[in-house]
Amino acid sequence: MKQDIKSLTLDELGSELKAFGEPAFRAKQVFTWLHRGARSFDEMTNLSKPLRQSLAERFEITVPEVVRKQISAQDGTIKYLWRLRDGNCVETVLMRYHHGNTVCISSEVGCAMSCAFCASTIGGLVRRLTASEMLDEVLFTQLDSGLEISNIVLMGIGEPLDNYDTVLRFLTLVNSPEGMNIGMRHISLSTCGIVPRILELAQSKLQLTLSVSLHAPDDETRSRIMPVNRRWHVDELLDACKRYFELTGRRISFEYAMIRDVNDSPETAQLLLQKLKGMQAHVNLIPLNNVEESPLKPSSRQTVLRFQQILESGGVTCTVRRTLGSDIDASCGQLRRKYQKAEEDTKHTAVS
Ligand code: SAH
Repeated sequence: MKQDIKSLTLDELGSELKAFGEPAFRAKQVFTWLHRGARSFDEMTNLSKPLRQSLAERFEITVPEVVRKQISAQDGTIKYLWRLRDGNCVETVLMRYHHGNTVCISSEVGCAMSCAFCASTIGGLVRRLTASEMLDEVLFTQLDSGLEISNIVLMGIGEPLDNYDTVLRFLTLVNSPEGMNIGMRHISLSTCGIVPRILELAQSKLQLTLSVSLHAPDDETRSRIMPVNRRWHVDELLDACKRYFELTGRRISFEYAMIRDVNDSPETAQLLLQKLKGMQAHVNLIPLNNVEESPLKPSSRQTVLRFQQILESGGVTCTVRRTLGSDIDASCGQLRRKYQKAEEDTKHTAVS
């Protein structure tokens, strides 16, 4: 098996090249080629032919293949379904805001977290992505679309803190001045609430934005819709969030999907308010996206606005997320799921 060269940091690449007897500046040259999207060592024309050959013998360069590309007629959102080298597929969404182009990337193929409202988790976790596969989502979305990417959100398929070390490696790569050079303050990471990893991330003091998918302020409801809550309860999670703020000085953003008759009553809003009291927090209300396989339904617009108003009047800043790309199944896991189902249908047709 050849080694995945694009998952290496600049320092690691330096050590590898040293072993080939190459000077330190070579690492920078190779790194720059890779992070500009080179597909083969032959493209690296400032390296000698024998070096290119030795590199090709030892390393491979990952390049995902576009399986589907959908462009929203409403707002220009672009959704990619990529096929990875082992045949698995993941999604990336490019959203166009006035503050810059934002790419929403996946961190795993599938997800083990089993949230009741989420399409990504339906088939469970298949495998975790490598750092180069996450980088490729950003890089090849930029190259294919021709749109410069300034922001990244880790809010696609998967639980980034379940793939912790690799996600941190990806962050180092994408933040690298010799690579895509995307600043930590332009990166958000969303988690369902894996408490020990939140505390570990706090220690790293990275200046990224942490989003926590809260979705309910009480254990009974949250455990019902998010099994992860059975392991780490709401209060434990919120304590970790407080600690995160103390250590990093970064305000946490709480995601809250509004689900009809589940977590959207005025009493629930009051309880949420109480739980967030004294915290530097921001709440992002997301009208639930319908998932075919789930009986859960979105709250009405009026219910969302009433919920927002209760939080705001209690002093918690609260926004309602604008939905982009709803005409192209742009939310979490939906396109991969549809693609899987179509493949399954084809197989069944072939068998019967
Ligand atoms: N695993 C991470 C990141 C991926 S999901 C996490 O849980 O945060 C990104 C966000 O979309 C999360 O807040 C998730 O709860 C939310 N989400 C998933 N399915 C949704 C749906 N059907 N409607 C609205 N939001 C959804």
